[in-house]
Amino acid sequence: MSHIIDQLEASLLRSDLPRIQPGDTVKVHVKVKEGEKERIQLFQGIVIGIKGGGYKADFRPIEENCDCFACQHFTRAYLRHLLKANEILGLRMLSVHNSHMYLKVMADARAHLAAGTFAEFYREFIANFAPSQKIMAHRKKEKEKLAA
Ligand SMILES: [Zn+2]
Repeated sequence: MSHIIDQLEASLLRSDLPRIQPGDTVKVHVKVKEGEKERIQLFQGIVIGIKGGGYKADFRPIEENCDCFACQHFTRAYLRHLLKANEILGLRMLSVHNSHMYLKVMADARAHLAAGTFAEFYREFIANFAPSQKIMAHRKKEKEKLAA
């Protein structure tokens, strides 16, 4: 029976997307529209696959050195437990961490604007948030598909 389920699952999986595993660094491009201007905002993070078994005994915070409430009070193992048990607190704490990271980037940008060093901040930010090799290979493949 599980063989049939495995075959069905395999037929439904997309093979044209890169396989992302827990521990991989991903860089996500988000289109941001501000008035009439449009830009691509890049975010980088580590895939933690918190629902998988890998974090069952991981007592570190979501992200080391993060000072958000979620990282200061919860471990990956406990968040994994909350998510597996469908406890809304798990999703809320992930949102707290994600919002904190977003707000920190914006606060850093504002501080650099005030200090007149935004161009340096921007260059460093873009350099650190460039797409990974995996994503670039995927995009190249997609472009080649469109061109064919
Ligand atoms: Zn955090």
